[in-house]
Amino acid sequence: MPTFTLALSKGRIFDETLPLLAAAGIVPAEDPEASRRLIIGTNRPDVSIVIVRASDVPTYVQHGAADVGVAGKDVLLEHGGDGLYQPLDLEIARCRMVAATQRGFDWSGTVQRGARIRVATKYVKTAREHFAAKGMHVDLIKLYGSMELAPLAGLADAIVDLVSSGNTLKANDLVVVEDIAPISARLIVNPASLKLKRDTVQPFLDALAAAVAARRTARGIAS
Ligand code: ATP
Ligand code: MG
Repeated sequence: MPTFTLALSKGRIFDETLPLLAAAGIVPAEDPEASRRLIIGTNRPDVSIVIVRASDVPTYVQHGAADVGVAGKDVLLEHGGDGLYQPLDLEIARCRMVAATQRGFDWSGTVQRGARIRVATKYVKTAREHFAAKGMHVDLIKLYGSMELAPLAGLADAIVDLVSSGNTLKANDLVVVEDIAPISARLIVNPASLKLKRDTVQPFLDALAAAVAARRTARGIAS
């Protein structure tokens, strides 16, 4: 009977968390890309993994359906982080949250005039807070994906989205006009789990922290 549950999303987060889990002695029994199963066992009979949407990870951990999880800072900013302990930056899935417009859009002129700007994004809360802090007037348009299309199709003047290489922006003739936040994935923990399952959770946190530190050292030596 598993007593310790980890929430992960498929894809980038799962793939980049795998080596850190291995360093903590945890190896999933299945590849979620290959299997339709949503609950995956591991080499440890007391540890299981639930596969959820990236934006649902904080919800599972907050309600204790998972003891710990791995979530992008973007997802955590949007969630708000209520009821979550965030002890560790895993330094994986790194990218930036930015505002971008079509090349040629007069962003600074529009901002200086105080004109309303239409901003399409999946990150409505984060974008609202960012622009409000700058005293800018924006109308937010909620999207669930393919933000890059919005300015091209005339839905919005700007988007707030994640970029890493910048290739997707470039391919769609978009340029970054504001840096909003550096993004990486964090370990999140249910506070009650930390208290009640400390004998399992604390060694897991310590092992992940050591793995992140070792990786940082290795990177430093390599460069
Ligand atoms: P879903 O597909 O379920 O809507 P998603 O698109 O957010 O979710 P992923 O694309 O796997 O799922 O992204 C998961 C997390 O990885 C994001 O929350 C973010 O923290 C990070 N991420 C997203 N895009 C990039 C990127 N280009 N480079 C690095 N990390 C990224
Ligand atoms: Mg995606």
